[in-house]
Amino acid sequence: MARTLSSYQRPRAVDDALEALAAGPLTVLAGGTDYYPARVGEPCDEDVLDITALEELRGIAERHDHWRIGALTTWSTLARADLPPWFEGLQLAAREVGGEQIQNAGTIGGNLCNASPAADGVPPLLAQGAMVELASRAGRERMRLEEFILGNRRTARRPEQLLSAVLVPKPAARRAGGHFVKLGARRYLVISLVMVGATLEVGDDGRVAAAGLAVGACAPVARRLPAAERALEGAPCEERLGALLQPEHVSGLAPIDDVRASAAYRSDVALTLVRRAVSELAARL
Ligand SMILES: Cc1cc2nc3c(=O)[nH]c(=O)nc-3n(C[C@H](O)[C@H](O)[C@H](O)COP(=O)(O)OP(=O)(O)OC[C@H]3O[C@@H](n4cnc5c(N)ncnc54)[C@H](O)[C@@H]3O)c2cc1C
Repeated sequence: MARTLSSYQRPRAVDDALEALAAGPLTVLAGGTDYYPARVGEPCDEDVLDITALEELRGIAERHDHWRIGALTTWSTLARADLPPWFEGLQLAAREVGGEQIQNAGTIGGNLCNASPAADGVPPLLAQGAMVELASRAGRERMRLEEFILGNRRTARRPEQLLSAVLVPKPAARRAGGHFVKLGARRYLVISLVMVGATLEVGDDGRVAAAGLAVGACAPVARRLPAAERALEGAPCEERLGALLQPEHVSGLAPIDDVRASAAYRSDVALTLVRRAVSELAARL
């Protein structure tokens, strides 16, 4: 017989949440903006761990060599935060996640754990070389974001773990910035057809010291473009920088045909958007 009853817990301390997760599998609920739409018309038969009262998982803090973004930090908080240009890609993405109501409720942790190929938070964080912090009663573990997101709606999170924070390493160069470009079927409130996160670090000689490029919605998991990154390194940081990128630099993507766009269109657009993201960022830096 199908289960129709569920339990609901809303702990106020992370340790209590981890205790509950250790006792048995629970469905974690943060802002609910992915959780609820996925269950329209379904019976409510899950044991839910509502983490919205875990205040210590909210907010952004600067540490010695990285920034720590609590998993419950909302898109609105991120969009309004006073952060260096290194975060401009993530902040542009934050302003494009749904509308204001979604940005007020939706969290960065929920976006990563839901692991949609179209999750706007993923490409800018990949380009920044972000890590995730996973907490359980056994302790806290760090993992590169590339290793955390395994596929469409699949992550490396174990049932007893909570995603507690996103850790963004500081760039080595003083002159460094990020950018985000998203293409959808219309200007606002749209699921991405293709989106690009880009970072550049520029040396004192005016040349690109390091580049981070990632494309979302063109493979089951957003992908970094190592060949494209290498092609930019050492080049003068100027507005034409994006023109260095060629079709072979995005050939590792595997876009799909779906109701929103064809695979061929996505491939074509990916190169255009990567070039645009790089050139716009180089011009700004
Ligand atoms: C109208 C609308 C428009 C949207 N537009 C966009 C958009 O433009 N771009 C975009 O990227 N997304 C969009 N979304 C999706 C959603 O808003 C975001 O992915 C959001 O960041 C999800 O966060 P949440 O806190 O609401 O997650 P929830 O819905 O609470 O959770 C999502 C998943 O993650 C798990 N989870 C959440 N937090 C944790 C944690 N700390 N540890 C472990 N597991 C966790 C949950 O169990 C669940 O499986 C949209 C959604 C709606 C309804």
